[in-house]
Amino acid sequence: MPEYQSKIDESLKATKDDIISFIQTLVQSPSLANDEGHVQNIIFEKLNQLGLATKKVPVHFDAIQDHPAFCDDGFSPDTRTNVVGHWKNGQGRSLILNGHVDVVPTGAEALWDESPWSGSVKDGRIYGRGSCDMKAGLASGIFAIQVLQEIGFKPNGNVMVQSVVGEESGGCGTLTNIVKGYHGDGAVILEPTSLKMSPIQSGALTFRLTIPGRATHAAMRWDGVSAIEKFNRIHQSILDLEKHRHQSFEVQYYESPDRVAPINIGTIKGGEWHSTVPESVIAEGRFGVFPGETAQDARDAFESHIQNISNKDTWLKNNPPVIEWFEGQFESGQTLVDHPLIQTLTDSFVQTVGDAPILEGVTYGSDLRLFTNHAQIPAVLFGPGDVRLAHAANEFVEIEEVLTCINIMANMIINWCGGSIE
Ligand SMILES: [Zn+2]
Repeated sequence: MPEYQSKIDESLKATKDDIISFIQTLVQSPSLANDEGHVQNIIFEKLNQLGLATKKVPVHFDAIQDHPAFCDDGFSPDTRTNVVGHWKNGQGRSLILNGHVDVVPTGAEALWDESPWSGSVKDGRIYGRGSCDMKAGLASGIFAIQVLQEIGFKPNGNVMVQSVVGEESGGCGTLTNIVKGYHGDGAVILEPTSLKMSPIQSGALTFRLTIPGRATHAAMRWDGVSAIEKFNRIHQSILDLEKHRHQSFEVQYYESPDRVAPINIGTIKGGEWHSTVPESVIAEGRFGVFPGETAQDARDAFESHIQNISNKDTWLKNNPPVIEWFEGQFESGQTLVDHPLIQTLTDSFVQTVGDAPILEGVTYGSDLRLFTNHAQIPAVLFGPGDVRLAHAANEFVEIEEVLTCINIMANMIINWCGGSIE
């Protein structure tokens, strides 16, 4: 409804200082995993001020640990809370605006120009850990509501803000909301996508591969079996598998179609002593899952690959490597690009910006999979900030991009839920 656009623009201009200082306040509240309570209080207060029906939702592992998508992140099983606020007026379509408040560790503080928690504003940017991933995104959803309230708009449906914990470590926050039945007709997850629309994400499965050898004195190494040499062969075959899988999956909408589902060996431990033939290698890594591929199919593909390669080697055939799947088991997820949610977001983007948005799949995990795979809620990642800055030193978000996002999300609420100015 373009007749609202000039009002939105005006209201946004008047709210700009408020927006910046709110994001600064969020960044200045360090909210590492398991320590999200303080920042959640700030969000709770803000949603209350906007008159949303707001609740703190306890995140208890008891309630979610039997769910197939549960990942135990090793943090507190019962002290964390989500915040959920409803802006509800009519019976039209509902829209979830989801964002996580947990941030990743800062890394060496010496690499930062200022404290990672400074929230300082410089050259049109807000700096600090979590500015880009994703406190500015979450704030964009909240201020889209505020801007619409200021022009007297009322949606004909429920706009639900979900401020969640534990995304970076496995998704216990969003999973809790799903298990508790917080449902919507669509979800925008305001992750930093540089305002590209990402309705598709790859998955990632953490594995441990134990390769056996046979120890003996190095002086008689031919009598032993080096697990490190066996690992080298297997590692090379894993790189070939990665290439082969990219050839056999047809993938659209990715920036690099040959880099959709990487397989990475992240750690190796092997051998005990320089003059002993190594008895075992333990390698841990991350196995990428293609969009449309189930996690089980991906696990099967890896296991049968390791079995096939082992069968070609007499030692490994008789002493097969062992694969364990542990910690993060993130499925891929997707919403079809012709779904009305994606169409409506496209329209809202065009209305605000003029050009059409870029549609692109992402290779990292996010809460999107929980919505699409476990709640039948169509979902899309869309928000301000460049994900390449997200876990780095001197993380920042461009203020202009935040304002554009708020503008687009205000239009998205109007277009998706309907409603009117009273
Ligand atoms: Zn994030």
